Amino acid sequence: MKPQIENIVGIPIAVVHRTTPWIWDLRQDADENRAIGEPIPESNRFIARSVETPMVEWKGGIKLPGQPPLPKYFDGHAIRDHFMELKSDADVLAFLNLYGKFSSLEELERTEGWKRVDFEGWQTVFAELARRAPETWSDYVNSLLLPRTGFDIRGVLSALVWGSTHQVEFHWRGLPQADWRGAKHLASLQTNTVVSAILATIEIDHLRGAKFGVCARKDCPKFFEITSHHKRKYCNQYCAHLESIRRMRARRKRGRTKSRKKAPPTPGRS
Ligand SMILES: [Zn+2]
Repeated sequence: MKPQIENIVGIPIAVVHRTTPWIWDLRQDADENRAIGEPIPESNRFIARSVETPMVEWKGGIKLPGQPPLPKYFDGHAIRDHFMELKSDADVLAFLNLYGKFSSLEELERTEGWKRVDFEGWQTVFAELARRAPETWSDYVNSLLLPRTGFDIRGVLSALVWGSTHQVEFHWRGLPQADWRGAKHLASLQTNTVVSAILATIEIDHLRGAKFGVCARKDCPKFFEITSHHKRKYCNQYCAHLESIRRMRARRKRGRTKSRKKAPPTPGRS
């Protein structure tokens, strides 16, 4: 098949995410030997369940299921920014309960669930997909299978494949729409899982030729758009500042150990 290719420039496109309302719980694997105050084990899992529709009393005492919960709509880029900020279990739980279904792996999300280390893995993967040219994505993704990475890489891979097909709708001015920011027509790329929403924003960024760098602070997963020739290493001022403090402390520490070694033995001790 040889499709006819049209070069259409300047179509405003938005990633519109429609949530599938789910309730997420953080299930802690029972560990009776764990003392109070000891850190919670790594094995905790975020597990999803559907929102139960409340029964409503109908005529003559008959009960019928009421209104299902309404989906909410979110902007894909906002979801991406929010996701890359997640640090604690509490952050992840609040995030999941806001956006609902995370990936297309419904069965996995309801039974085994995801661990926090999986979400850290997802952050790394998204940052790499932003940094790399899409031509190299499959090599990168395959390379993840080789060493044991500690997170559920098979789940991640499978969710990526399922999340990479998107639905596009075209809207014309005149139809009731949310804020179009002055756009005449709009291509609305619609997603219903978080993975698909974030992936779509990264794909669109590559289509418009954006380049990204990943923050040089080891414990920060965030990526940022490179907009000038000026070399930038960190995602924001906070990370740059923190790293400079760390370097200064490391230098001081090295200085101290050196002077300790050089110092003459304390008199009168031996
Ligand atoms: Zn950073």
